[in-house]
Amino acid sequence: MAEHDVMDKLVSLAKRRGFIFQSSEIYGGTGSVWDYGPLGVELKRNVKNLWWSRMVHQRDDVEGMDTSILMNPKVWEASGHVEGFTDPLVECKVCKKRFREDQLASQECGRKPSKHPGEHDDCELGEPRMFNLMFRTFMGPVEDGGSTVYLRPETAQGSYVNFLNAQMTSRQKVPFGIAQIGKAFRNEITPGNFIFRTREFEQAEMQFFVKPGSDEEWFEYWLEQRMDWHRALGVREENLRIHEHGADELAHYARRAVDIEYRFPFGWKELEGIHNRTDFDLARHEEYSGKRLEYIDSGAGERFLPYVVETAVGVDRTLLAVLSDAYHEEDVDGDERVVLRLDPGLAPIKAAIFPLVKKDGLPEIARKLADELRGASINSFYDESGSIGRRYRRQDEAGTPFCITVDGQTAEDQTVTLRDRDSLEQTRVELSQVRGWLRDRID
Ligand code: ATP
Repeated sequence: MAEHDVMDKLVSLAKRRGFIFQSSEIYGGTGSVWDYGPLGVELKRNVKNLWWSRMVHQRDDVEGMDTSILMNPKVWEASGHVEGFTDPLVECKVCKKRFREDQLASQECGRKPSKHPGEHDDCELGEPRMFNLMFRTFMGPVEDGGSTVYLRPETAQGSYVNFLNAQMTSRQKVPFGIAQIGKAFRNEITPGNFIFRTREFEQAEMQFFVKPGSDEEWFEYWLEQRMDWHRALGVREENLRIHEHGADELAHYARRAVDIEYRFPFGWKELEGIHNRTDFDLARHEEYSGKRLEYIDSGAGERFLPYVVETAVGVDRTLLAVLSDAYHEEDVDGDERVVLRLDPGLAPIKAAIFPLVKKDGLPEIARKLADELRGASINSFYDESGSIGRRYRRQDEAGTPFCITVDGQTAEDQTVTLRDRDSLEQTRVELSQVRGWLRDRID
């Protein structure tokens, strides 16, 4: 399958099945933001829950937080974003289209500067100017310079300015981390590739505060942990790799940076960044706020400004990786089957329950089973419409790992047919065992 075909098919399946819709679609959409539908929101929550469980619940050295999107504007001066969170923007004087100068020759643009994707070949690019990616707005009823605030472009700063609040109230000792999942906003010059690069997105970031000198070791540790997490999502190993930043690529705050990259249908691209941010952020916040942010280790009788190892993954990008990895087209007995081979733990619907026919008391048994599963927090879907083949196909496209059919035999021996999405194998399971059977496979 050609690469652009896969993306077109994914976008279409995502809409058809209720994963992802264009934002404000009835008004013709809006610039690169997307809405998650009934299945999309479940998939997204499952991804976030898995991250939270690994990064917070299963550890005693990471605390969770949920800080605000709007912050004191001085935060963004201190962090360097007001001055330096910019991309070089170039505009064609003829067609007026705008591009990121550093991406003109890359796949996102696809053409050389003299032939960018305008309607003409004689375009004339102007001089690049630096464009700040932060969205600006006003706080309060007066719209003047004094009330300017920014929509945060990353969640990390909320964790830095709360470093001592979190450390002291949780009585953590360095090394320890602060984890957050939340929205971030960037006025990207060239958003695109569906949910890969959008202007409103979600990040799952963790700032790990360490004693200077132990930062390199912790960096290695977190890189390994994060690779493991991506594998645990069921993403194929051959589609993951790491990219070490050269000195010319490093962000102003970073001593070392490694990207975890995924082979998207449009090429290898960053999925997650691991950064050694040294004490850059804490030192700048000390300077700009006039408050001390040192960690006091009373046991060892020392005080120091910790270094930070950051892990920063995009939730939406992770979803795109998971969806493109899961998308398969195959031939089953001469019929084409589109199937999302999602890990059962991530799948939005865990089990679909069908009565084979709409009579003989089968719908009642099936509904009762669906209710029982929902009561046990196993997200289930009851469907009695259309042929059994069509019902299976709808669930294959939704990535539902198990379909359960109640048929004539159920009334006789209290068993149902359980169909496995991937192997297509069908087994008979006792009605009373279904809940446990599913639990073993979805947790
Ligand atoms: P890129 O180079 O792709 O612009 P970045 O290096 O600026 O990304 P970070 O600031 O390290 O990204 O943000 C951490 C993660 O947040 C990225 O790895 C990515 O998964 C996600 N992310 C960043 N920008 C966007 C965006 N515009 N849309 C969706 N996800 C994003």
